[in-house]
Amino acid sequence: MNRIYNFSPGPAILPVPVLEEASRGVLEINGSGMSVLEVSHRGKHFEAIHADARDRLLRVLGLSPDDYYALFLQGGASLQFAMVPMNLLGPGQTADYVNTGEWSSKALKEAKKIGAVNVAASSEDSRFSCIPTQLNLTPGAAYLHITTNNTIAGTEWPELPAGNGAPLVADASSDIFARDIDYSKFDLLYAGAQKNAGPAGVTLVVVRKSLVEKSSDSLPTILSYKTLAKGDSLFNTPPAFCIYVVGLVLKWIEEQGGVKVIEKRNREKAGLIYAALDAHLDVYDPAVTVKADRSIMNVTFRLRDTEKEAAFLAGAKERKLDGLKGHRLVGGFRASIYNAFPAEGCQALAEYIQDFARG
Ligand code: PMP
Repeated sequence: MNRIYNFSPGPAILPVPVLEEASRGVLEINGSGMSVLEVSHRGKHFEAIHADARDRLLRVLGLSPDDYYALFLQGGASLQFAMVPMNLLGPGQTADYVNTGEWSSKALKEAKKIGAVNVAASSEDSRFSCIPTQLNLTPGAAYLHITTNNTIAGTEWPELPAGNGAPLVADASSDIFARDIDYSKFDLLYAGAQKNAGPAGVTLVVVRKSLVEKSSDSLPTILSYKTLAKGDSLFNTPPAFCIYVVGLVLKWIEEQGGVKVIEKRNREKAGLIYAALDAHLDVYDPAVTVKADRSIMNVTFRLRDTEKEAAFLAGAKERKLDGLKGHRLVGGFRASIYNAFPAEGCQALAEYIQDFARG
């Protein structure tokens, strides 16, 4: 297998040991004589896979199964943009949203269709190049919604907002398991799996049990956290293969030493690339100027001479550095370096950034 350095933002690189084990599971799972793709979602083989993934998910986040449900849902993080307000934003209530990027904007657009929304802060005026520091919070808000890492802009919350006692809800699609933060500060956390957690097709939802109790009773059954939690994500046929791979990724995270070790690596990896960019500010224009707000998952930058963009990408490809084109909405470049992305690839990109600048 001749693997390239794949900097794509999601679906994204997975750990090689996970791919190897998953490929064995595709042929046969647990001596069952069946592929993991073939076993019943109500049978003992999937039951064990599901329980293992669910337990590991909470354990890796340092959360107790007494306090939280760990759900594996479908519809992507995008469905959670709607499900969160449908379940948690009741009549007469207001939800606070912080707008830190394209995905936050989409989340709050959906919430506005359901109920009253207050934009507590926005960094849109600065092209989402920083995280707002002042929040204008609603007393008694239904919840406060943030996007912990902004995949397109390349920013992350350096610290979680203090809030005003309202439940904290977060879209952690692009940095779940990347940082050793106190996950118990979140009342609801959701993440499309296809960056740090596994294949596209499953969404992780970790939600405080007491919040589920308060959620709306009048929703279509499949959109209700209550139903999904009570049915242990098995209200309908779950994305069984995706859950299996998420379990393998979580096992890999635990084998690495957990999120503490992963975060240290991530900081070192991102540091290599940012240092190379910062050393050549005459050539590069890092998109995020507030250093504390720079994402350790998605490094975004432009060339000061935009005419050279195609040459930059072509040269990168020659060195097997792929997937560096920035999001179509913002252009420029983006190196997505999720947990499974190897340090050598970051080193290779840092060297290329330096060599390209030197001409
Ligand atoms: N939120 C964030 C922060 C994302 O990066 C993405 C996908 N790139 C989404 C939400 C949308 O996720 P999905 O495609 O799973 O709906």
